[in-house]
Amino acid sequence: MPKYAEVIINFATTTEIDRIFTYEIKPLLMDKIQIGHRVKVPFGRYNALQIGYVIGILDEIEHTDYEVKAIYDRVDERPLMSKNQLDMAKFMVAYYGTSFAASIDAIVPSGLTSKPFETRLETQEYMVLNRDTDKVQSYIHQNSHKKSFSKQKEILDYLLIHKKVLVKAAQTFQDWSMSSVKTLRQNEMIQLLKQEIKQSPDPINHQAFKVLTKEQLVAKDKIINALQARSYQTMFLDGVTGSGKTEIFLYAIQEVIEKGGCAIVLVPEIALTRQTLQRFEERFGNRVALTHSRMTPKERQRLYMRAQMGDVAVIIGPRSAVFMPFENLRLIIVDEEHESTYKSENAPKYHAVDMAQMRMQREQGIVLLASATPSMETYQKCLDGEYEKLTLTQRIGEAELPEVVIADMRLELKTGNNQVISRVLFEAIGETLTKGKQVMLLINRRGHSTFINCRSCGHVIKCNHCDVSMTYHLSSRQLECHHCGKTEPVPETCPACGSKHIRFFGSGTEKVEQYLREHFSEYGIGRMDLDTTTGKEGHSKILEAFEKRETNLLIGTQMIAKGHDFKDVTLVGIISADMSLYMQDFRSNEKTFQLITQAMGRAGRGSAKGKVIIQTYSPDHIVIEKIKNNQSKLFYDQEIKNRQLMGYPPFTHIFTVLITGKNEEEVIRAIQHAAQYYRHYSKKGKAAFRVIGPSTAVIGKLIDEYRWRIIILSEDREKLLIYGKYCLQKFKTMFNTSNIKIQWDMDPLSMM
Ligand code: ADP
Ligand code: ZN
Ligand code: ZN
Repeated sequence: MPKYAEVIINFATTTEIDRIFTYEIKPLLMDKIQIGHRVKVPFGRYNALQIGYVIGILDEIEHTDYEVKAIYDRVDERPLMSKNQLDMAKFMVAYYGTSFAASIDAIVPSGLTSKPFETRLETQEYMVLNRDTDKVQSYIHQNSHKKSFSKQKEILDYLLIHKKVLVKAAQTFQDWSMSSVKTLRQNEMIQLLKQEIKQSPDPINHQAFKVLTKEQLVAKDKIINALQARSYQTMFLDGVTGSGKTEIFLYAIQEVIEKGGCAIVLVPEIALTRQTLQRFEERFGNRVALTHSRMTPKERQRLYMRAQMGDVAVIIGPRSAVFMPFENLRLIIVDEEHESTYKSENAPKYHAVDMAQMRMQREQGIVLLASATPSMETYQKCLDGEYEKLTLTQRIGEAELPEVVIADMRLELKTGNNQVISRVLFEAIGETLTKGKQVMLLINRRGHSTFINCRSCGHVIKCNHCDVSMTYHLSSRQLECHHCGKTEPVPETCPACGSKHIRFFGSGTEKVEQYLREHFSEYGIGRMDLDTTTGKEGHSKILEAFEKRETNLLIGTQMIAKGHDFKDVTLVGIISADMSLYMQDFRSNEKTFQLITQAMGRAGRGSAKGKVIIQTYSPDHIVIEKIKNNQSKLFYDQEIKNRQLMGYPPFTHIFTVLITGKNEEEVIRAIQHAAQYYRHYSKKGKAAFRVIGPSTAVIGKLIDEYRWRIIILSEDREKLLIYGKYCLQKFKTMFNTSNIKIQWDMDPLSMM
């Protein structure tokens, strides 16, 4: 009886090839091919061999006019993907409208070749009996009169009792003669078996667990109950930094491991600190593994394989860890769930929280989201009762919430201070350092001066290739475009009017560092931004120096805002809190609120009370005001109201189309043409679609390409995706798109 396989071709980049092809499985391969296997198949007119993935197996197919080709061979011994993983790939195709090939690429480890996926667990050779006990007994009986048989008998006697023995151990400890082993093998009494061995798992270190506070206990019990119910649920753990959320994760994972299950812990890429990892390893030892972006393909493949083999039970990593090939997955934790790094910017443009929920729905486990500053989506779902909310209201131990001071920078300027650091912040830094405590300063921009303009004519120096201002970098004494990376020397005269009066405005990390070095260099100053952390260990070196108190003042971009737990930090300064408030993005309030709150969480984690100083030009802005008064709930409720009023997410979904190209006129013509289709079809059908634009993107020009976009909103996500792609397809068939690029995104997080 012939069998057929449904195969996805791996290299598919075009929509024509990105579909399911049917291949015959010849009898010889019948037992060797399962769902999830990589296979070599003849493809195309010349039957070139391509790699494909088997996503289904059929007993029969409908009659076809064309010849059904046969699978040439399988690539790997084991299926590379599990059924669960294939379900995730299929879900991404349906839910994000992405291609099969891209979805599979996101799931399997990178750097695979057409050679077998070879990484294996350690293999060891065992000796086992080859015959049943009766045959062995009679063999002993027949031969026992022979003189030299005692050596063989010793081996057989041992194996009759112990069933198997490691060859290596037999040689060294039992002192068996290898010639007897040889004879026994020749007589087919014993055989040697190669077996993959798993590491022996470390015991859970129960002593390391903290005694939970009452609040923690309530939250923990609810999670454990949910885990024991063995059905899908999403829970949201709401708690300020330092309220003991991670401790609860550890208890939940302990429950999972003790029941033989696995867990995934997602963290935003930059937030995972050595300290956090240590806390996991301290309790679960070698059952914990970490993935991160700096791993080599080989390291990635090895971890993937260990997860497949059940050689590891907990994986901590960034968004892509959600795809790990665990078989008995019971729990996915998403820490700092509001972070935008959970959404992939490249195809497949998935969101890790969607994927975690989809996965746990099928595998009947728990998704545990955690944050002190949830996304508006999560906040609303808790209100709707879709997620169960667990709350921690207090910090652990003596740690109290820090005092918040607002520094009005308009007043500073009026009273003659034109420095980037306000007087109150400057004094507080001095006071904190002399007391032997530490300071963290958050700045949104790296570099020295965020823009340079001409005093005579007001001209701002912009990148020639992008519509953004250039940033001055002190170390290189050059201007750099933060979008395309191009650098230029600083002009001596204004390129527009020739005036010599050029000045440097705004302040990045470098400028703040330079200024503070004049006053506090003896305390040790560290700077952490993209420029200082590019080296492989750059990150951890800077943090280590701060932890060891070689530096006591740490200046940095948002990288420093997250996750770190330094007990001696009692002062956090936020240099320009309002920088991100006026971005053309409906999420800018939410993002600013989250960033400032996170940064505040770094202050006063030890026993001394912390202080946060927020410098701003808009002290009356709702974000600043609610933070100052510690009225997070009021902020969220107000923001939710606005979103509802304006018809933005979480009350609607967004589909964006971005058209880019070198010729601005052509880009505009194209986007206007595309917009016509969206307008036309939005009026047909019953679903309500709101079409905004076309308009230039927030960054109107990037690396010599002009950027225009259309935004489409609807309450009906499913119809929006269909309609969004349908109109684009219509447009593509009617418009010559050879000189433009078209991108689209479902549920985008950024409107850049
Ligand atoms: P979060 O993840 O909410 O920031 P953590 O779990 O990291 O909070 O807890 C903050 C600090 O308090 C950590 O140093 C942690 O070891 C400690 N901690 C947490 N829970 C307890 C507890 N029940 N008893 C004592 N210390 C605790
Ligand atoms: Zn000028
Ligand atoms: Zn540029």
